[in-house]
Order: sequence, then structure tokens, then C-alpha cells
Amino acid sequence: MRISELLTQIRAHWIDHVAHLLSPGEEGRDFLLVELERFYDLLQQAIASGDPGWLKPLLIEWATARTESELLQEKISLSPVLDTLMTETPKVVTQVLGEEEALFLLKELMPIFTYAYSEIAQQEMLVRVGYISAKLDQVQTELRRIDHSKSDFISVAAHELKTPLTLIEGYAAMLRDQVGDDDSSGAMLLKGIGNGTTRLAEIINDMIDVSLIDNNLLSLNFQPTWINRLLEVLAKEMQPVIKERNQNLVIKEFSGSKQMTFADSERIYQALRNLLTNAIKYTPDGGTITIDGRELASLIEVTVKDTGIGIDQEDQIRIFEKFGLLGDIALHSSSKTKFKGGGPGLGLPITKGILEAHGGTIWVESLGYNEEDLPGSIFHVLLPILAESPDDKMAHLFEDYNKPSEN
Ligand code: ADP
Repeated sequence: MRISELLTQIRAHWIDHVAHLLSPGEEGRDFLLVELERFYDLLQQAIASGDPGWLKPLLIEWATARTESELLQEKISLSPVLDTLMTETPKVVTQVLGEEEALFLLKELMPIFTYAYSEIAQQEMLVRVGYISAKLDQVQTELRRIDHSKSDFISVAAHELKTPLTLIEGYAAMLRDQVGDDDSSGAMLLKGIGNGTTRLAEIINDMIDVSLIDNNLLSLNFQPTWINRLLEVLAKEMQPVIKERNQNLVIKEFSGSKQMTFADSERIYQALRNLLTNAIKYTPDGGTITIDGRELASLIEVTVKDTGIGIDQEDQIRIFEKFGLLGDIALHSSSKTKFKGGGPGLGLPITKGILEAHGGTIWVESLGYNEEDLPGSIFHVLLPILAESPDDKMAHLFEDYNKPSEN
């Protein structure tokens, strides 16, 4: 008997048998019967043509017809259905056909079932990957939206805080004029208010800077800049704190530090100041901070190395994200230079934003975080050497500086 006739002979029995097993109740039986009829039609085509690919469209349809809730609960696999079809087929075949015909038919059917298995596994994998990547896209869009709201909030809050702060600063200045600068307790209290408002103003300015960077609105005033000059001023500014913390600040002479480059010197100063402030903050009293560097092809590298608590490998990227401060927020004091006195976690994102706006970059190297062994950290800054101002409008003002020269 021809194989197509054998298939026709067992068809009704096979469909009835597997439909009963796959759907013991009446519910969904009609739909299942239609699907099994379709499967069987294609199975017959596959056997007749010798091409199991006939089953592919139906298998794709089955795999992609998974509902959202099935995907969500990971109830995705159709392999158990194929298992039933495959394991029940020999039973039906041997019940309906004689031994020789049964063996002949099974030998023809097995490769087709094997194909169906691998095809369904592949299709299910594709469906799942598609589902997961769609979910990831959704999450990313949502994260972007949240980040945007956060950035809007920072900007609004910063501007709203600035007005009352200016009022406090103004009234404190008037009071200071009346009280005078002597050693009276009134003058001491006013000094305390002054310190508080200065720190608050710094935080608000950081919030404004971070929202400018977030929205690509940081505008740079390129002018001739020498790193060694910025470091000299910085060392002077930080000297009192370095002394108070009994630390050593070593600023090395390095090639490139005397190299003129066009940059926004105020912003570069701010970036270096953030790094030095952090080095002071995260290094215990008595530690050493070394600023060094070198000139690379068309870049100046500056390194700020400390003998402080160090940073874990897994945090070395996160600290450059806004609010990427580490540790327990409740333990943070907001001192700018006290040992481990935390800030709002905006210093490094601003530093990174400033450097990237210049076409530069920043990264950190540290063996890890350890408050006893003090592995220290080295922040590396790369700043491109620009012989001319990239700002056309300003360029003519600095024609004399067109060529980089030794200072
Ligand atoms: P913060 O205002 O908290 O100092 P930053 O953005 O400047 O914010 O730094 C983010 C975090 O990176 C800090 O909270 C600190 O945990 C870590 N960090 C920065 N600089 C250093 C350093 N030199 N040594 C150890 N940890 C550091």
C-alpha cells in the first residue's frame, strides 16, 4: 500500500486520539480539531513531497500565536504538544495498521517529527527574543522618560531654590554690615549662615550644571588655557583645607601642563577642582594627593591620584552617573572636604560632562574600596590639545595664539 493511503487510513483515528489527549474536556476541542486537521494535511504534503518544510508556516503560526500572558508566565513551549503527537503516533499506527505497514510508516514519519521539533524550538526562541527585546525597548523608553522628568525636576528645583537663597544672602549681607566683622557672637552666627548659604549655592549651581549637561546646553567659552596655571590657582585655593586635613598635595611638572590649548578654563578649573575636592574628601587625614600627567599625541593627560579609600570595580562607571554617590545616604554629611563627607553625587557627572563637551574623557582606576588598606584611586583626564578656538566667533580674538607655544 502506498504511504499516502496509509496516512489517510489512520487520519481520523489519529486526530480523534490526540485531540482527546490534548483537550480531555469539550472546551477548545473544536479549535483543536481544526488545528490538528491542518497539521495532518501538511504532514501528508510533507511526506508526499519529501520536504518537511511544508509544516513550517503552521509551526510559525503556532509559535507566534502565544498570548501576552503566556509569554509573561513563560508558558511558551509547544514542545509538550509535539511530544504528545510524536509519542501517540506509534500507538495509533500499530492499532490501525499491520506490523510491517506500521514500521514502514513510522520510519517515514520520524524525520518529519524531528524537523517539527527543531523548527518549533527555533521559532519559540525567536518569539521569546522578540518579546524580550520589545519589553527592553519599553523599559528603556520609560527610563528615558523618568530620566527626563528627573532632569526637568532638577532644573526647576534649582531655579526655584535660587530666588530665596539670593534673598537670604542679601539680608545676611545687610546684617553683616550692621554687626560688623568683629569677634562678637552675632558675627560668628552670620559667618555660619554665610558658610551654609555658600554651600547651598554650590549645590544649586551643581544642579543647574547637571541639567545643562543633560540637555546638551553647556556652552563653552574657549580661550587659551594652560593646565599648570589652573593647577597653581587650585593649589592655592585648596591649601587651607589640605592643611586642616594634614594632607600632602604634590603637583608634578609634566609635559603638556605648560602646553597652551583652547578650552573653557573656568569649566576645566571646575572639573579639576571637583577631582581634587573628592581626593581630599575620600582620603583620610595625613594622606597624599598627587597631580601628574603627560602629553600624548594630541592630548593632555592629567592624573589625580590619592591614597584614600578607593572605589570598587563595579562602581567605577556608576560614580560618573548623576546621583551616583556610593554608600548609605543616611550616613552622608554634606561637608565639601571632611573625610567621606558626601555631596549630592553631582560632582563627577559634571566633571565628565565638562570634559566630554571639550571632546575629552575621564575614567578612574582603583584596586577597590577598603577603608583599612587604603588602595587609593587615580582619576585620569584626557583633554584634546586645540591650537585654535573651535568657536569661529571667538577665534579672531585669539589670532595671536593660533600656534600652540611653550609658556
Ligand atoms: P559626591 O558629591 O558624593 O562626592 P561625586 O559625583 O563627586 O559626588 O562622587 C560620586 C561618588 O564617587 C562619591 O560619593 C564617592 O563614593 C565616589 N568617589 C569620588 N571620588 C572618589 C575618590 N577620590 N576616592 C574614593 N571614592 C570617590
